Amino acid sequence: MGLILLFIVFLISIFARAPTGEAWGKQGHFMTCKIAEKYLTEKTSKAVLDLLPEIANGELASVCAWADEVRFRYRWSSHLHYINTPDCTYKFSRDCHDNKGVKDRCVVGAINNYTEQLRSYGDSSSGYNLTESLMFLVHFVGDVHQPLHVGLEADEGGNTIIIHWYRRKTNLHHVWDSNIIETALKDFYRNDQSSMIEAISKNITDSDADSWDNCRNKRVTCANNYALESIHLSCNYAYKDVEENATLGDDYFFSRLPVVEKRIAQGGVRLAAILNQIFDTSLVEII
Ligand SMILES: [Zn+2]
Repeated sequence: MGLILLFIVFLISIFARAPTGEAWGKQGHFMTCKIAEKYLTEKTSKAVLDLLPEIANGELASVCAWADEVRFRYRWSSHLHYINTPDCTYKFSRDCHDNKGVKDRCVVGAINNYTEQLRSYGDSSSGYNLTESLMFLVHFVGDVHQPLHVGLEADEGGNTIIIHWYRRKTNLHHVWDSNIIETALKDFYRNDQSSMIEAISKNITDSDADSWDNCRNKRVTCANNYALESIHLSCNYAYKDVEENATLGDDYFFSRLPVVEKRIAQGGVRLAAILNQIFDTSLVEII
């Protein structure tokens, strides 16, 4: 009996670590949501608090990686974390679909869909589980900002490009999900996540925040633009000068870390803008 249990635990640990398409690792999602929390209006914070599940203990950031945890239980959701493109361009009508060709089933479609569902908050006839809608939305806004989540189909967003991150064997996708962030945490922040969040937040100027949050008046989100930015960053930074079996070290780390930090900052500011637009209707009228 004990052996069987051990085997089951072993199997679960393998599945839990499946490498494909996790997007920002736990830390990237947590940081994105922590930054978003700072930009929520009082009215939005109240609605978010109302929708959060008990396990969140009132902290939005604590459930921002939830969608990765349920992707095997909710198999239908696994395609909603990313977009594959044929080249360094992205077109919603061509690229936003799942592997069976069903339209809208990609990270941009999911952001728009969950945003729309959340607009029924307060409507007693809403048939949606808005707690789950919120947890999906906050995760996917993070995902669409991880450049390689809008990556080339040929290498599954860098998942099939095996490289060494310093001495450790991994793949390019994982470098952008986790390794760059982990190395920064270790080298610059004594592994203290809150110091890194603070540093990223301090770098966000008011004009940055204004220019990133540039679609406040529209009913749909600007997720399509964020995906377009990501494929360009994938081609200009993530894939650039990387060959199969390459060893990526200081040169790559120092030149790409600013991109990662900017995407976490943008993800946070834009997530807050989307949530404010959904839950704080007074804001839409003022602007
Ligand atoms: Zn994801």
